[in-house]
Amino acid sequence: MALFDFHTHTTISDGAADPLTMARRCLANGYAAYVCSDHVDAATVDLRVPQIVAACAEVARALALPAIPAVEITRVPPEAVARVAAQARRLGARVVVVHGETLGDHPQPGLNLAAARCPDVDILGHPGLITAAAAAAARESGVHLEITAAPLHAMTNGHVVRVALSEGAPLLLDSDAHRPDSLLTAARAEQLLLGSGLRPEQVEAVRARAALALLARRGIEIPEPAPAGA
Ligand SMILES: [Zn+2]
Ligand SMILES: [Zn+2]
Repeated sequence: MALFDFHTHTTISDGAADPLTMARRCLANGYAAYVCSDHVDAATVDLRVPQIVAACAEVARALALPAIPAVEITRVPPEAVARVAAQARRLGARVVVVHGETLGDHPQPGLNLAAARCPDVDILGHPGLITAAAAAAARESGVHLEITAAPLHAMTNGHVVRVALSEGAPLLLDSDAHRPDSLLTAARAEQLLLGSGLRPEQVEAVRARAALALLARRGIEIPEPAPAGA
């Protein structure tokens, strides 16, 4: 099963390693693609998205690993999320994550709902004590709710899973890695998904279907990795 992870950071924002170093570890860990989703806000989106796009082109060239430019819209007021998301897409971001209402931070109330309603958003990152209304809006918009591997944000994973399942919103797992050691492995991903309260058959569904649905929605094609020994 190919490993997907749409939420990682580099030295383009507050990560500890440059994109090539992160991507090398992704390759070693069996990722199907590298996704660089550094933090942007209204002030930094114009500067950072072109850097992310260039870094992904360099990774694809150097490592022959598919590399997808993305962003995490962070500390943007709810009413500005749609504008920053549209701007990030115009500049070349193909996946848009929004830094949701995690209990590890002090985001503004209403942020989850604004992100869940926005057609340019793909993933509502670490959405904390997300409401049923926001999860229902995410289902309507096709926005994935994130189960996170980041210790600062992971305390509400069980709640996120429960509300997503009851409202029919799609789920996926991301690392939110700020350093290579925090990137996922297949074994770690399975542990985290089981630990979030999913049953084994639900884990398989989340791992297989969620990423493919997201990629298909944005028309992003990832070649199947060659089988080992081929
Ligand atoms: Zn975040
Ligand atoms: Zn993040």
